[in-house]
Amino acid sequence: MRFPLALTVKIARHIIKHKIRRTPKFALVLQLEPLHTCNLTCTGCGRIREYSTNLKDMMPLEDCLASAAECDAPMVSICGGEPLIYPKIEELVAGLQAQGRIIYICTNGVFMRKKMRDYLASAYSTALEPTLTELLAQKLITDKDADTIRKGKSDGRPTIQPSKWMYWNVHVDGLEYTHDLIVEREGVFKECVEAVKMAKLLGYQVATNTTVYKETDMQEIEQMFEYFSALEVDGHTISPGYEYDAAKKDMVSRLNKQPEDFFLTRAMTVKKFAKIEEWGTRFTIFGTTVYQEFLAGKRDLTCTAWAIPTRNIRGWKAPCYLMTDGHYPHYHEMLEKVQWEKYGVVDGVARDPRCENCMVHCGYDPSGALGTNYKAGDTWKNIRYNFGAKPKPYLPGLKVKAFNGVSIGKGHLAEAKAAINSPRAAMNGAQAAFSRKADAHDHTHAAGESCGTGDTTQRDELLAKIAAKNSAPKPE
Ligand code: SF4
Ligand code: SF4
Repeated sequence: MRFPLALTVKIARHIIKHKIRRTPKFALVLQLEPLHTCNLTCTGCGRIREYSTNLKDMMPLEDCLASAAECDAPMVSICGGEPLIYPKIEELVAGLQAQGRIIYICTNGVFMRKKMRDYLASAYSTALEPTLTELLAQKLITDKDADTIRKGKSDGRPTIQPSKWMYWNVHVDGLEYTHDLIVEREGVFKECVEAVKMAKLLGYQVATNTTVYKETDMQEIEQMFEYFSALEVDGHTISPGYEYDAAKKDMVSRLNKQPEDFFLTRAMTVKKFAKIEEWGTRFTIFGTTVYQEFLAGKRDLTCTAWAIPTRNIRGWKAPCYLMTDGHYPHYHEMLEKVQWEKYGVVDGVARDPRCENCMVHCGYDPSGALGTNYKAGDTWKNIRYNFGAKPKPYLPGLKVKAFNGVSIGKGHLAEAKAAINSPRAAMNGAQAAFSRKADAHDHTHAAGESCGTGDTTQRDELLAKIAAKNSAPKPE
């Protein structure tokens, strides 16, 4: 099966229960954003630009758990910001598990290995020695890490343990060169791969999470799926990028780009996703076949953003994950007060101009599962897909040249560094700015201090230099 039986049954039961009760609108996946702080500042990320990224601004644990109970979605996607920075992430995961939720931790991967080392320390006994030996052999932990693990953990806090109810959902937008360029930091792709390998070795479930942009090379995405399939990840989520106000404003002001230079139009999305159904047979792509048909331009769907609500420190974000027309204190209040008929695209006509180019999974994936624009046979298609055999790992994917960036000396910041090191740039003080940028990535901070402040001044200097050279060079 593409998705473990117990999880599929849980989701199916939830849908059937609400269908029998004729509930007009209900939640399928809660996008929970306990904080918006992040250790990265990815190009095109609206979150770190729309909201405060100060660590003081985060949801109390009790509010996070109460929100999950309030909307009662069977799946909770913990996102942000970077959820592994949330100081009570372990308690949050444990609390959601106690509620019986299916949990996705949507992470950029940078702190995953640290969290897994904590788990190993909490579970340590001599029986774990063969596992430590294997982790050491694969260079996924150091000798020092192994010693720390052997000392155990006695602070009484829970850890994030392997569970069939939990997935690490690791953000990867391409192979090494591209991914590091998008997250604007060299070395992140390598860390993600090591985290995925360690997670699989320890028995965690792992998925990858990819956003497709206008510049995305879909052949590269196929290679990326082949590579991660060979690493035996358990699934992939993929969605087109979107016209997201905060990110759009940021792109226009910082990089002197027009929105259409960066975000996909509907026609472009359909072209990009021409192979999505074929990929669905080769790889474990999560979601519904109906949504895949929509992405491939074979059918229309109506937005059901209410089924994947977003809860953050300001409340329930309406109408959707992408756009903010207001925040409500309660999910049911949001359901009642938002004029849902004002949003989405129907028969090719955008009811709100901001929806015009949107085909994102959080607006349309549930539309397939919930039967909006239902066509005879849709239910069977979705059941057959999710209950059908899981595609086997694509082992030739190990031959994919995934490390095509900084690992082979083609880091995207090379041009910027060269520019900064030029005498003229030195005169302008850019050298000092670059040094400060390196400091900005020190992740050791005390509680209450901000990790990613959203202040992108130093990075802007680098990007301006890249933009002046018509963006970073692509590997040959
Ligand atoms: S990892 Fe990137 S996309 Fe995700 S919250 Fe951080 S900056 Fe945004
Ligand atoms: S179509 Fe739906 S998900 Fe997309 S921007 Fe509009 S309201 Fe949001």
